[in-house]
Amino acid sequence: MTRIAIILFGPPGAGKGTQARLLSRALGFPAISTGDILREAVAAGSDLGRTAKSHMESGGLVPDAVVDEIVKERLARQNCTRGFILDGYPRTIPQAEFISGLFAPGKLATVVVGIDVDDDVLLDRLSGRRICPGCRKMFHVRKSPSGAGDRCDECGTGLVLRPDDAEEVVRERLQVYHRNTKPLIDYYRARDQYSKVDGSGSVEAISECILGIVRKRQGAGAAGN
Ligand SMILES: [Zn+2]
Repeated sequence: MTRIAIILFGPPGAGKGTQARLLSRALGFPAISTGDILREAVAAGSDLGRTAKSHMESGGLVPDAVVDEIVKERLARQNCTRGFILDGYPRTIPQAEFISGLFAPGKLATVVVGIDVDDDVLLDRLSGRRICPGCRKMFHVRKSPSGAGDRCDECGTGLVLRPDDAEEVVRERLQVYHRNTKPLIDYYRARDQYSKVDGSGSVEAISECILGIVRKRQGAGAAGN
């Protein structure tokens, strides 16, 4: 049986995590976010978490060897046998080859989708974002401000800007993203496995568009790895 790897690319703030969850629900494949796994490690304060934290706060990337090991273990689990959705991985060509190398030739069909949004739009989305440390409610200083000023209108806790949403850090994250993703997009495009979707529409519209691409590739037997 050929399993399907759906790989999502999208800059920070493009809604990639949301799209991965919607896709997971529609297809019944697990959505595997390296970002979530790493944040859990940060919260737990493990050695891995402390290493990850220092890289994330400076807008950089967590070392490949750490991430590879986490992903490999996750893909070995039972619920990945039909397919899986990767969000935040691979970030390098060696990692792309690492993924395809985990499966026998012809046993993995790869569908890669890039969510396309302008950097200026993303910068506004992220640097305007505020979060309540009390109840986790999210706000945006212009688009969805709190009714209680700089406090949460649900629980009264003071709102905060996450360190990696600060404007200079977002600029750096976007630069890092583009620098690292361009070669991967070229890599998958050369294998006829890459499609781009317009990420400026509604969450639902973007989701429909991605599902359409996946189903089309499923119907065509999808290009092998
Ligand atoms: Zn709150």
